[in-house]
Amino acid sequence: MSYKNFPMVPRVIFGRGSFDQLSEIIAPKRLNMDAPFIFLVDDVFKGKSWLISRIPLSYQDKIVYISASEEPKTSQVDDLTEQIILSNKERTSGVIGIGGGTILDIAKAVSIMLTNKGESADYQGWDLVKNPAVYHVGIPTISGTGAEVSRTTVLTGPDKKLGINSDYTPFDQVILDPELIKDVPKIQWFYTGMDCYIHCIESLNGTYLNAFSQSYGEKALDLCKEIFQSNKLSKNDAQDKLMMASWHGGMSIAYSQVGVAHALSYGLSYLLGTKHGIGNCIVFDHLEEFYPEGVKLFKAMKSKHKVEIPQSVCANLEEHHFNIMIDIAIGLDPLWENALGKNWKKIITREKLMQLYKKM
Ligand code: NAD
Ligand code: ZN
Repeated sequence: MSYKNFPMVPRVIFGRGSFDQLSEIIAPKRLNMDAPFIFLVDDVFKGKSWLISRIPLSYQDKIVYISASEEPKTSQVDDLTEQIILSNKERTSGVIGIGGGTILDIAKAVSIMLTNKGESADYQGWDLVKNPAVYHVGIPTISGTGAEVSRTTVLTGPDKKLGINSDYTPFDQVILDPELIKDVPKIQWFYTGMDCYIHCIESLNGTYLNAFSQSYGEKALDLCKEIFQSNKLSKNDAQDKLMMASWHGGMSIAYSQVGVAHALSYGLSYLLGTKHGIGNCIVFDHLEEFYPEGVKLFKAMKSKHKVEIPQSVCANLEEHHFNIMIDIAIGLDPLWENALGKNWKKIITREKLMQLYKKM
């Protein structure tokens, strides 16, 4: 038996207003005056001076605004990388991602591609990256995915949706400033927050569970219950705790795996472009048979916050569409094995997945 020796984010700062320390944090990492820091920023912040004016630009540093309306693609990462290389005469000192899971994943992927040849699609998989990435910093502005702690960056490529999982993927530095999530629209707060909740349920009910994952998963689940179920928290406390729930949820799956909801949601996302948070909610709503307790509580939180999950997203699909989703979902062996054990193929057939998708 050999155990995974996985890297963690080596530096993290937590606190309201900690974003203002960005300048002093990155300054020692500047290679020289011509080697810029590139700030990849969610374009939802364009013109929002409360945030943008605090980004410490000097010398050749640049802000690149990125839309989070679609999930990251390998072609997008390759284009961005090329644009950065062509527009600077020197190497890049660092990449700083400011946004949700979408922007954080793009920042991780670009930082890898700046030092590795070829296309990002070549590195989708496990441990394919050869050279260390450039220094990269993650600053979440919405919480739940755990992308700020994870060892992966999930990309949709020409023929698959799969992460670049490598020891070079995790951020070198994360800044957790709960003030940054203050303007997240309620519905998005719920969807992305539920990603964290679902990470906990899938990890805690998986066959890969171990004390490491359990300790993080239980803490994250407790925090999610406080945030989404109780009425006791102040706004600030709820924001602070959601940031930490996301962190712990991400740590929990680092040493286990996700499960049925993520497998099916990857299929939806690949075919229909359904985003991760909402896709997980659409799927999880129909998974009572796999996660009875988890789904029951999910439904209670959904009605407490008066969230309507989209229905009938698969209603007008044809046979070949279902097959595309099923191909994606059924190919995710580790997720199924975690959810259902080594003999998962006895339970999960193409027909079974078809039935499930037809409910959504
Ligand atoms: P997101 O980054 O897609 O953003 C969702 C929406 O919220 C966008 O419209 C964005 O502009 C907006 N937004 C973000 N911050 C805001 C703020 N402070 N105020 C107002 N609006 C704000 O959301 P997400 O759910 O965090 O990320 C989903 C992505 O994360 C997917 O691409 C998924 O694949 C990825 N993901 C990655 C990992 C990982 O470990 N790497 C894990 C889970 C999910
Ligand atoms: Zn997830």
